[in-house]
Amino acid sequence: MKKCDVAIVGGGPAGLSFANSLSSSGLNIVVLEQQDLDSIETPKPDGREIALTHLSLKIMKQLGIWDKIPEEHISYIKKAHVLDGDSDYTLKFDTDKTSIQELGYMVPNFSIRKGCFDAVRDKSNVTIVTKQKVTSILASDKNSIVSLEDGEQIKAKLVVGADSRFSATRRMMGISADMHDFGRTALVCRMTHEKLHNQTASECFHYERTLAVLPLNNNVSSIVITLKAPDAAQVLAMTDEEFSEDTARRFGYELGKMQLKGKRFSYPLMGTYANKFYAKRFALMGDAAVGMHPVTAHGFNLGLRGADTLAQLIIKANKNGEDIASERLLRRYHRNHRNVSRPLYLGTNGIVGLFTNDKPFAKILRKGVLRAGDKIPPLKNFITNQLTEEKNSSIFKGIFSS
Ligand SMILES: Cc1cc2nc3c(=O)[nH]c(=O)nc-3n(C[C@H](O)[C@H](O)[C@H](O)COP(=O)(O)OP(=O)(O)OC[C@H]3O[C@@H](n4cnc5c(N)ncnc54)[C@H](O)[C@@H]3O)c2cc1C
Repeated sequence: MKKCDVAIVGGGPAGLSFANSLSSSGLNIVVLEQQDLDSIETPKPDGREIALTHLSLKIMKQLGIWDKIPEEHISYIKKAHVLDGDSDYTLKFDTDKTSIQELGYMVPNFSIRKGCFDAVRDKSNVTIVTKQKVTSILASDKNSIVSLEDGEQIKAKLVVGADSRFSATRRMMGISADMHDFGRTALVCRMTHEKLHNQTASECFHYERTLAVLPLNNNVSSIVITLKAPDAAQVLAMTDEEFSEDTARRFGYELGKMQLKGKRFSYPLMGTYANKFYAKRFALMGDAAVGMHPVTAHGFNLGLRGADTLAQLIIKANKNGEDIASERLLRRYHRNHRNVSRPLYLGTNGIVGLFTNDKPFAKILRKGVLRAGDKIPPLKNFITNQLTEEKNSSIFKGIFSS
């Protein structure tokens, strides 16, 4: 039986960045990924453009991931506009008169995944095993035994489940999760346009659907449309020309004529929140711990932050000769990550609920919320901190955390 210190199930961005965070510790790490090597070595574009916060940028730089991302794949958000229904009122955020240069950074998901892989691939204490599905985990006081589909077994001091929001390891360890099916779908694609976007991200809460237009390089924008699942099927069935014209019209021709560039991708919208982030000799990470609705763009940002938190605790324990998977350590990780993620998760679901509710009271309330966001400077500063994670604070902290 093979032995290691930490076995990470899932070679997605969360699992690989965690392996990277731990690599300096000298611990022996094995990443187990069910897909083949090619899928994680040269991931294909999947339509997702990830908005990264300042904190994520800092962590990615420290881990050497940022250096692996080609310069031309990075674009900058300098301004953000939030529009509501048919109202002509816009809540605006910008970097003018602030100490920050950017509100956030846009990087394609496939480029982040490749960057995470490239940064860790040559680390001598990290082994990446592909085309291997984990079938069971048996935890005892001293070790855990991970069984693989081909019958092989690996003994580890700690097992980390980073195997997506539909995590099988979470279930294997008996950890329950709140799952919320929004009944909606996110359609994502890239579009070119006549007018300049001026590095402005726009979030339009139209009735029935939301439309986000996020600035990329070379007069291209990332489009994220969320709508009811049956409506998504209709939009996917449109010809490229029909879709382009429909999107430009719904955006009020703010960017002039728009043209679809490449494919449209769709994702069913499902939120998940594990009720505990640990079990005996086991921790949950990334979407397996917290699977966010993409409207507030916090999924990977949170995954990265959680990976960093757990890695720091393990590195310290290892230096002090302590157990790297003690209950005390894992409970600390759980508490810390819960304090950061719970308010964001509930806050995001609250925003989705309010801004997709077309009842008259909700329409009035959302208008009030946007105006309050603009007129109350501390609230506006709070929201800006949320967008950037510049001060690592959380707008909803204290309101929702328990
Ligand atoms: C439309 C959309 C837009 C988004 N926009 C943003 C954004 O702007 N900002 C942001 O921060 N986040 C965003 N996100 C969220 C972000 O994409 C995710 O949070 C992130 O990709 C999750 O990474 P992960 O590694 O946790 O999971 P995944 O990427 O799902 O990776 C899990 C890995 O585990 C493997 N696996 C699964 N089961 C097993 C098993 N049994 N054995 C072995 N391997 C297994 C899978 O093959 C996979 O490689 C968006 C998401 C969507 C859908």
